[in-house]
Amino acid sequence: MKHTSVRQQLLSLVFLVSLYSSASACAAQQVVVDTGHTTEKPGAIGHNGKREFDLNRQLTIALIKALRAKGLSVTDVAAAGSPQSLQARTQASSGAALFISIHHDSMQQAWLDAGRSREFSGYALFVSVGKPQYARSLACAKNIGRGMQAIGEHPSLYHATPIAGENRPLIDSALGIHRFDDLVVLKTAEAPALLLEVGVLANPDEEPRLAAPQFADRAANAIANGILQCLPAEQ
Ligand SMILES: [Zn+2]
Repeated sequence: MKHTSVRQQLLSLVFLVSLYSSASACAAQQVVVDTGHTTEKPGAIGHNGKREFDLNRQLTIALIKALRAKGLSVTDVAAAGSPQSLQARTQASSGAALFISIHHDSMQQAWLDAGRSREFSGYALFVSVGKPQYARSLACAKNIGRGMQAIGEHPSLYHATPIAGENRPLIDSALGIHRFDDLVVLKTAEAPALLLEVGVLANPDEEPRLAAPQFADRAANAIANGILQCLPAEQ
């Protein structure tokens, strides 16, 4: 009887350890997906009236689906409507493997007013250098940049133009990665974090292409592939 009891205790211990390991593995693979802006304050508006929030949401729905199909655990920040507060968006990031905020880009009003809206197209990535999680943030940004380029996209580099309000330092110009330490969602996220401007909505030539669901699906798969490659290996 005593031997059985010890054996049972050992089996229970093995069971508990395996439960703990699988819980840690899940936590390590959790991705928090933020949809930029809200329905009330939709961000950029395209020349033909497409709203940034709607494009952001179309893309995050496709991204969440793609990440879940790859077996990752995903927190959808906009599931019950996007929070107004930026800090509230990053609250779910504690213990996550990555926080990613999805946007579509605009330009300074003076730039648009000068008739220069067609000068830039492409994606832009932002990371905060001061964070302890910088190494993984950058690794994920690089993998997502490569994923975007694998589907034929290119970095816009608009945010590196030497004008007031832009002039963001480039960490990797070939992959379109900028330094933006004070961006609230990057600064307040406890997880590795990045912000992706998927394309330039303010460019009228780009608006219809970016708004197409087929583009959102293709971009979402490219982003999901990049994310999968930069996450820590499962235990
Ligand atoms: Zn935005």
